[in-house]
Amino acid sequence: MSSSWRNKDGSPRRPQAVFLDRDGVINRDSPDYVTAWSQFRFLPGSLAAITALTAADIPVIVVTNQSAVARGLIRPETLTDMHRRLNRIVRHNGGRIQAILHCPHHPDDGCGCRKPQPGMLIEAQTRYGLDLKQTIMIGDRASDIACGHGAGCGGTILVRSGPQDARPELARLGIRPDWIVADLAAAVQTILGPQGAPP
Ligand SMILES: [Zn+2]
Repeated sequence: MSSSWRNKDGSPRRPQAVFLDRDGVINRDSPDYVTAWSQFRFLPGSLAAITALTAADIPVIVVTNQSAVARGLIRPETLTDMHRRLNRIVRHNGGRIQAILHCPHHPDDGCGCRKPQPGMLIEAQTRYGLDLKQTIMIGDRASDIACGHGAGCGGTILVRSGPQDARPELARLGIRPDWIVADLAAAVQTILGPQGAPP
């Protein structure tokens, strides 16, 4: 594995967008779902990592499975309010989230947007005119990596800041993330290189 995302000639490569999973990447995941803002705990370094992407002019798009909505554990308007607060705190820290896309469905609904299905990435592709080969997906679960892989993202980064080790499941699926790193801060350093922003 290379130390950062590079073109074949070795020059730093600026992604058109970076897709971030939410729970286990930006904030601490919970087996009981994160159903209120009072349960939302930023993981160390995640806010600064989003700020670094913004400073490098790389759009950040959050894509999150929220089956808690279909399960009746959180009301849609509460989720909207949580995301408004998340956006506000990110902005206060000098970062920007271009969009937060969520799948509200139950795993049994068979929708096209619940990761590992690629629906949210295709929605972003359509909305923002992205070439998905020029994007990177970052997540803590096998479903995140499988989603990025299946959608044709140019890179996938597995972070180990979630509650489970995704590697056995990925091995079973025969999918290899391009990088495996500790957390979002390390993932962003992988994208930007140690110097920060690509030129
Ligand atoms: Zn869905």
